[in-house]
Amino acid sequence: MRKIVIAGNWKMNKTVAESVKLAADVVAAAKDIKNVVVAIAPTYLALAKVAEVLKGSNVKLAAQDVHWENQGAFTGKVSADMLKEIGVDFVIIGHSEQRTHFGETDETVNKKVKKVQSLDMTPIICIGETLAERKGGRLEAVLTTQVNGAYAGLSADEALRTVIAYEPVWAIGTGVTASDDEAQQAHAFVRSLLTKLYGDNVAQSISIQYGGSMKPENAAGLLAQRDIDGGLIGGAALKADSFLGIVTPGESIKK
Ligand code: PEP
Repeated sequence: MRKIVIAGNWKMNKTVAESVKLAADVVAAAKDIKNVVVAIAPTYLALAKVAEVLKGSNVKLAAQDVHWENQGAFTGKVSADMLKEIGVDFVIIGHSEQRTHFGETDETVNKKVKKVQSLDMTPIICIGETLAERKGGRLEAVLTTQVNGAYAGLSADEALRTVIAYEPVWAIGTGVTASDDEAQQAHAFVRSLLTKLYGDNVAQSISIQYGGSMKPENAAGLLAQRDIDGGLIGGAALKADSFLGIVTPGESIKK
């Protein structure tokens, strides 16, 4: 059985004080959630304070990125040990904004995944095509390259300790969501790639989130799809009630 994992990616939003307040609101709103794994990803700056708020709750802490080296001359970066020390559970890796604006490649994604796993944190590996790639008939080729790149050198046991976020780039922050069918088809294709790499048992056990303008209005339809096992949520995660409006339909869904 696969877990439904729903994570809020706060991106570069909220001061530390605002993050603490939103985290407390999410903790209160999610206190009766039992079947969905709920996580929030504030900025690096707010992680330590938010970790204190999440202590003893059922809400997990996620980071938005990481560097693959342990330490050193990497101005502006944060290492996996630093995240681990604070109590981070999940690390978002390869987000399309990292790929587009900050030079993330499938190779750096792979290095980060390995580093994060070596410290028993769970990578949320983001993949997804641009509109031009989809329109140009390259959806499957792009997803194949991204999945093969992210999982290069990972054993089946390691693969089992990953989450994938399928996020069509054209749907992120645009208000345009993939239809239930479009999303399901892409998810089924991603799972088929995992089957090729690790066999059906492993592929059926890895949670694949959908991301891209997911909101309370479309969450139930997306989460009901056979291969959609949660969500990576941007804009709608910035308020506790809309975030919980996405989490709550997941409570009654079994995968
Ligand atoms: C994201 O940042 O991963 C995302 C899916 O954003 P939004 O929900 O705002 O489209």
